[in-house]
Amino acid sequence: MSSAVNLARWGVVPYITAWSSEETPPVAVVVRDGRIAYADERAEDRDGAGVLWTRIGFSPGVGVPQFKSVHFLRQRRAMRGLLCQVCGARCAKSALWMLSREEYEGADGPWPAPVMTAHPPVCPGCVERSARLCPHLRAGHVVLRPRRVSPAAISGVLYQPTRAGLVPSAATIAHNDFRTRWLRAAQLHVTLEDYDVVGLGAMVVSGSGGSSVDRGSGRQGV
Ligand SMILES: [Zn+2]
Repeated sequence: MSSAVNLARWGVVPYITAWSSEETPPVAVVVRDGRIAYADERAEDRDGAGVLWTRIGFSPGVGVPQFKSVHFLRQRRAMRGLLCQVCGARCAKSALWMLSREEYEGADGPWPAPVMTAHPPVCPGCVERSARLCPHLRAGHVVLRPRRVSPAAISGVLYQPTRAGLVPSAATIAHNDFRTRWLRAAQLHVTLEDYDVVGLGAMVVSGSGGSSVDRGSGRQGV
Protein backbone atom coordinates (compact mmCIF):
# COMPACT_ATOMS: atom_id res chain seq x y z
CA MET A 1 0.00 0.00 0.00
CA SER A 2 1.67 3.09 -1.26
CA SER A 3 -0.38 6.02 0.04
CA ALA A 4 -3.20 7.14 2.32
CA VAL A 5 -5.47 7.37 -0.69
CA ASN A 6 -4.84 3.77 -1.57
CA LEU A 7 -5.26 2.72 2.06
CA ALA A 8 -8.77 4.13 1.91
CA ARG A 9 -9.49 2.36 -1.34
CA TRP A 10 -8.16 -0.92 -0.01
CA GLY A 11 -10.97 -0.77 2.53
CA VAL A 12 -13.69 -0.97 -0.12
CA VAL A 13 -12.06 -3.35 -2.58
CA PRO A 14 -12.56 -7.06 -1.84
CA TYR A 15 -9.56 -8.90 -0.38
CA ILE A 16 -9.36 -11.37 -3.28
CA THR A 17 -9.61 -8.74 -6.05
CA ALA A 18 -6.44 -8.38 -8.12
CA TRP A 19 -4.92 -4.90 -8.65
CA SER A 20 -3.41 -3.58 -11.87
CA SER A 21 0.06 -3.54 -10.27
CA GLU A 22 -0.16 -7.29 -9.60
CA GLU A 23 1.08 -8.65 -12.90
CA THR A 24 1.59 -12.23 -14.00
CA PRO A 25 5.16 -12.26 -15.29
CA PRO A 26 6.08 -14.41 -18.30
CA VAL A 27 7.52 -17.74 -17.16
CA ALA A 28 9.44 -20.57 -18.77
CA VAL A 29 7.71 -23.88 -18.02
CA VAL A 30 9.95 -26.96 -18.30
CA VAL A 31 9.67 -30.65 -17.44
CA ARG A 32 11.75 -31.73 -14.46
CA ASP A 33 11.50 -35.00 -12.46
CA GLY A 34 8.37 -36.09 -14.33
CA ARG A 35 6.35 -32.94 -13.75
CA ILE A 36 6.19 -29.34 -14.91
CA ALA A 37 8.44 -26.82 -13.20
CA TYR A 38 9.67 -23.26 -13.68
CA ALA A 39 13.11 -22.92 -15.21
CA ASP A 40 13.98 -20.56 -12.32
CA GLU A 41 11.75 -22.17 -9.71
CA ARG A 42 11.65 -20.94 -6.12
CA ALA A 43 10.33 -22.75 -3.04
CA GLU A 44 7.24 -20.50 -2.83
CA ASP A 45 6.10 -21.52 -6.33
CA ARG A 46 4.61 -24.76 -4.93
CA ASP A 47 1.99 -25.36 -2.26
CA GLY A 48 2.24 -27.92 0.54
CA ALA A 49 1.04 -30.69 -1.78
CA GLY A 50 3.75 -29.88 -4.33
CA VAL A 51 1.40 -28.29 -6.88
CA LEU A 52 2.98 -25.55 -9.02
CA TRP A 53 1.10 -22.21 -8.81
CA THR A 54 0.81 -19.41 -11.35
CA ARG A 55 3.10 -16.54 -10.36
CA ILE A 56 1.51 -13.17 -9.62
CA GLY A 57 2.80 -9.98 -8.02
CA PHE A 58 1.63 -9.06 -4.51
CA SER A 59 0.85 -5.36 -4.08
CA PRO A 60 -2.79 -4.91 -2.99
CA GLY A 61 -3.85 -1.28 -2.93
CA VAL A 62 -1.41 -0.19 -5.64
CA GLY A 63 -2.88 0.82 -8.99
CA VAL A 64 -6.46 0.16 -10.04
CA PRO A 65 -8.62 -2.72 -8.73
CA GLN A 66 -9.42 -5.29 -11.41
CA PHE A 67 -12.86 -6.28 -10.16
CA LYS A 68 -13.22 -9.09 -12.67
CA SER A 69 -9.88 -10.67 -11.75
CA VAL A 70 -9.21 -12.81 -8.70
CA HIS A 71 -5.73 -12.76 -7.16
CA PHE A 72 -4.55 -16.38 -7.22
CA LEU A 73 -2.60 -16.31 -3.96
CA ARG A 74 -5.22 -14.43 -1.93
CA GLN A 75 -7.96 -16.73 -3.32
CA ARG A 76 -5.94 -19.76 -2.17
CA ARG A 77 -5.22 -18.21 1.23
CA ALA A 78 -8.92 -17.37 1.68
CA MET A 79 -9.98 -20.93 0.82
CA ARG A 80 -7.32 -22.67 2.91
CA GLY A 81 -7.57 -20.36 5.92
CA LEU A 82 -11.33 -19.65 5.67
CA LEU A 83 -10.69 -15.91 5.31
CA CYS A 84 -13.53 -13.61 4.23
CA GLN A 85 -13.11 -12.89 0.52
CA VAL A 86 -14.29 -9.32 1.10
CA CYS A 87 -12.55 -8.06 4.28
CA GLY A 88 -9.88 -10.76 4.67
CA ALA A 89 -10.82 -11.52 8.30
CA ARG A 90 -10.62 -15.07 9.59
CA CYS A 91 -14.15 -16.56 9.55
CA ALA A 92 -13.52 -19.96 11.17
CA LYS A 93 -16.87 -21.45 12.20
CA SER A 94 -18.88 -18.39 11.17
CA ALA A 95 -17.91 -18.83 7.49
CA LEU A 96 -20.82 -18.39 5.09
CA TRP A 97 -20.89 -18.94 1.34
CA MET A 98 -22.84 -16.80 -1.09
CA LEU A 99 -23.69 -18.48 -4.37
CA SER A 100 -25.45 -16.86 -7.28
CA ARG A 101 -28.75 -18.25 -8.51
CA GLU A 102 -26.96 -19.55 -11.61
CA GLU A 103 -24.22 -21.26 -9.64
CA TYR A 104 -26.57 -22.86 -7.12
CA GLU A 105 -29.12 -24.06 -9.64
CA GLY A 106 -26.37 -25.36 -11.94
CA ALA A 107 -24.96 -27.60 -9.17
CA ASP A 108 -25.73 -31.33 -8.93
CA GLY A 109 -28.96 -30.64 -7.11
CA PRO A 110 -30.67 -28.31 -4.66
CA TRP A 111 -30.30 -28.69 -0.90
CA PRO A 112 -28.96 -30.99 0.48
CA ALA A 113 -26.74 -31.98 -2.48
CA PRO A 114 -23.09 -30.94 -1.98
CA VAL A 115 -22.07 -27.85 -3.94
CA MET A 116 -18.66 -27.14 -5.44
CA THR A 117 -17.48 -23.53 -5.67
CA ALA A 118 -14.38 -21.44 -6.37
CA HIS A 119 -15.75 -18.58 -4.28
CA PRO A 120 -14.09 -18.26 -0.86
CA PRO A 121 -16.27 -17.68 2.22
CA VAL A 122 -17.80 -14.43 3.41
CA CYS A 123 -18.00 -13.34 7.06
CA PRO A 124 -21.46 -12.52 8.49
CA GLY A 125 -20.61 -8.81 8.51
CA CYS A 126 -19.89 -8.72 4.77
CA VAL A 127 -22.97 -10.59 3.50
CA GLU A 128 -25.27 -7.61 3.11
CA ARG A 129 -22.65 -5.48 1.33
CA SER A 130 -21.70 -8.32 -1.03
CA ALA A 131 -25.34 -8.86 -2.01
CA ARG A 132 -25.57 -5.16 -2.84
CA LEU A 133 -22.25 -4.70 -4.64
CA CYS A 134 -21.53 -7.98 -6.45
CA PRO A 135 -23.19 -7.90 -9.89
CA HIS A 136 -23.38 -11.71 -10.13
CA LEU A 137 -25.34 -11.93 -6.85
CA ARG A 138 -27.88 -9.23 -7.61
CA ALA A 139 -30.03 -11.47 -9.83
CA GLY A 140 -30.64 -13.80 -6.88
CA HIS A 141 -28.42 -15.77 -4.53
CA VAL A 142 -28.37 -18.14 -1.58
CA VAL A 143 -26.37 -17.93 1.64
CA LEU A 144 -25.13 -21.31 2.90
CA ARG A 145 -23.59 -22.33 6.22
CA PRO A 146 -21.80 -25.67 5.72
CA ARG A 147 -20.73 -28.04 8.46
CA ARG A 148 -18.10 -29.57 6.22
CA VAL A 149 -15.81 -27.88 3.69
CA SER A 150 -13.41 -30.09 1.78
CA PRO A 151 -10.87 -29.52 -1.00
CA ALA A 152 -12.44 -30.47 -4.33
CA ALA A 153 -10.61 -29.29 -7.43
CA ILE A 154 -7.96 -26.98 -8.85
CA SER A 155 -8.26 -24.97 -12.03
CA GLY A 156 -5.44 -23.56 -14.08
CA VAL A 157 -3.43 -24.48 -17.15
CA LEU A 158 -2.88 -28.17 -17.80
CA TYR A 159 0.22 -29.04 -19.83
CA GLN A 160 0.15 -32.14 -21.97
CA PRO A 161 3.59 -33.56 -22.70
CA THR A 162 3.90 -34.42 -26.40
CA ARG A 163 6.79 -35.12 -28.74
CA ALA A 164 6.47 -31.58 -29.97
CA GLY A 165 6.70 -30.20 -26.43
CA LEU A 166 4.22 -29.11 -23.77
CA VAL A 167 0.72 -28.28 -25.03
CA PRO A 168 -1.19 -26.03 -22.60
CA SER A 169 -4.98 -25.86 -22.16
CA ALA A 170 -7.32 -24.48 -19.51
CA ALA A 171 -8.63 -27.17 -17.15
CA THR A 172 -10.25 -27.93 -13.81
CA ILE A 173 -9.24 -31.27 -12.29
CA ALA A 174 -9.82 -33.02 -8.96
CA HIS A 175 -7.37 -31.86 -6.29
CA ASN A 176 -6.05 -35.42 -5.91
CA ASP A 177 -5.89 -36.20 -9.66
CA PHE A 178 -2.48 -37.55 -10.66
CA ARG A 179 -2.37 -34.91 -13.41
CA THR A 180 -1.85 -32.11 -10.83
CA ARG A 181 1.85 -32.63 -11.60
CA TRP A 182 1.11 -31.18 -15.08
CA LEU A 183 -1.06 -28.33 -13.79
CA ARG A 184 -0.04 -24.69 -13.33
CA ALA A 185 -2.68 -23.88 -10.72
CA ALA A 186 -4.68 -20.67 -10.46
CA GLN A 187 -7.73 -21.31 -8.24
CA LEU A 188 -8.90 -23.75 -5.58
CA HIS A 189 -12.44 -25.13 -5.48
CA VAL A 190 -14.05 -26.58 -2.36
CA THR A 191 -17.13 -28.71 -1.77
CA LEU A 192 -19.71 -27.50 0.74
CA GLU A 193 -21.49 -30.36 2.45
CA ASP A 194 -24.18 -30.77 5.07
CA TYR A 195 -25.19 -27.14 4.89
CA ASP A 196 -28.10 -24.99 6.00
CA VAL A 197 -29.58 -22.43 3.65
CA VAL A 198 -29.55 -19.43 5.99
CA GLY A 199 -30.48 -16.74 3.52
CA LEU A 200 -32.37 -16.38 0.28
CA GLY A 201 -31.58 -13.26 -1.70
CA ALA A 202 -34.46 -12.54 -4.06
CA MET A 203 -35.03 -16.18 -4.94
CA VAL A 204 -36.84 -19.30 -3.83
CA VAL A 205 -34.83 -22.51 -3.69
CA SER A 206 -36.74 -25.06 -5.72
CA GLY A 207 -37.45 -28.32 -3.95
CA SER A 208 -36.60 -27.03 -0.50
CA GLY A 209 -40.25 -26.34 0.33
CA GLY A 210 -38.93 -23.84 2.83
CA SER A 211 -38.08 -26.61 5.27
CA SER A 212 -34.39 -26.41 4.53
CA VAL A 213 -34.15 -22.82 5.64
CA ASP A 214 -32.63 -22.70 9.08
CA ARG A 215 -35.17 -20.46 10.76
CA GLY A 216 -35.23 -22.15 14.12
CA SER A 217 -31.80 -21.39 15.51
CA GLY A 218 -32.28 -17.65 15.81
CA ARG A 219 -28.64 -17.32 14.76
CA GLN A 220 -29.11 -16.34 11.17
CA GLY A 221 -25.83 -14.50 11.09
CA VAL A 222 -26.87 -12.47 8.09
ZN1 LIG B 1 -15.81 -9.92 5.83
